[in-house]
Amino acid sequence: MTTSTLETTRTTVTADVPTDVTSETTAPRKRMLTGDRPTGQLHLGHYVGSIENRVRLQHEYEAFFIIADLHMLTTKNTRADIDQVSANARAMVLDQLSAGIDPAKATFYLQSAIPEVTELNTLFQNLVTVPRLERVPSLKDMARSAGKDEMPYGLLGYPVLQAADILCVKGNVVPVGKDNHSHVEVTREIARRFNSLYGDVFPVPELVESEITTLVGTDGQAKMSKSIGNTILLADDAAAVRKKVGGMYTDPNRVRADIPGTVEGNPVFVYHHAFNDDAAEVADLEERYRAGRVGDVEVKEKLAAAINRFLEPMRERRAEYESQPGLVDEIIVEGTERTRDEVRAVTAEVKKAMGITGTYNQLRRKAEQARKRRG
Ligand code: ATP
Ligand code: MG
Repeated sequence: MTTSTLETTRTTVTADVPTDVTSETTAPRKRMLTGDRPTGQLHLGHYVGSIENRVRLQHEYEAFFIIADLHMLTTKNTRADIDQVSANARAMVLDQLSAGIDPAKATFYLQSAIPEVTELNTLFQNLVTVPRLERVPSLKDMARSAGKDEMPYGLLGYPVLQAADILCVKGNVVPVGKDNHSHVEVTREIARRFNSLYGDVFPVPELVESEITTLVGTDGQAKMSKSIGNTILLADDAAAVRKKVGGMYTDPNRVRADIPGTVEGNPVFVYHHAFNDDAAEVADLEERYRAGRVGDVEVKEKLAAAINRFLEPMRERRAEYESQPGLVDEIIVEGTERTRDEVRAVTAEVKKAMGITGTYNQLRRKAEQARKRRG
């Protein structure tokens, strides 16, 4: 097994985020902004990379969750792709509600319904250089997996649009997986650059790292990803989980159960560590796997059972939300309206700080005077 491609990065939370949960505060709460592209349903990779932190932080931050359909266009922009956005948006929001996001606390919104975001994107484009964006590693990966030989202009600007998303609500914390870390760094640079040129308008947002920053796919590929199809979905039922786990990639050198196996970087054990609540069972399986005293079948059966235990409460919440038709649509529309009001105010503040509003006001005053002089 090539551990380099199977390696799962474990790090600790680095952002300065308080862990105590207080729902009642009087001062205006700081804000969290994160989200997903509406390219499909959410999976265990999203959960460990971002959603777990969204659920935890929603109590102490005002939460904004973007449905990033303009970002989707950077790699998927056919009419057929766009026609799937509303269904995918609905599914993604339902996934997050099932995972424990409280719709009374969080605001979900559709990026393309807020044109001021693209206005900010245009203004921010001059605060970062092309060589800087060319050094963002995830963009080349995205171009490659989308089968593009050359980088679309919009894809190069992906992190700038993301800066517009984060800063349009003055986001303070951004919980995202590893592929997005370099984007948050670009946002921080844009916020600092803006503030130094035009005055203090933006907070410099903090990245919130998850414990597992990239979850390996069921096929052993480095990243579980909707676009690759190596996922276990939050919406999968128990039978689907058993089937997917049964087909998972393990240690390819271990052709018989009595051959000692490698635990490190083995996706089955990565998942056991991430999702099995029975630590003693995991330790026992590991020990026997290393000694060649357990078959893959038992390891996988116990993993499927653990993932199903993990997903069960989500299934119950999902059923509750699904029994209320139109609820998710209402949540998205209300959230989009609320976010648009916020973004309009921030955009006005940005244009005022830059002097852009003043330019037009001067022209308008002169035009008005000229009209009056003519009588
Ligand atoms: P696509 O393949 O269409 O790009 P995706 O599965 O990569 O989809 P995104 O919408 O790009 O999902 O990512 C949403 C969030 O989930 C980001 O914060 C990203 O870092 C995180 N994320 C996605 N996949 C994983 C993974 N396998 N492990 C950890 N975090 C992940
Ligand atoms: Mg992605």
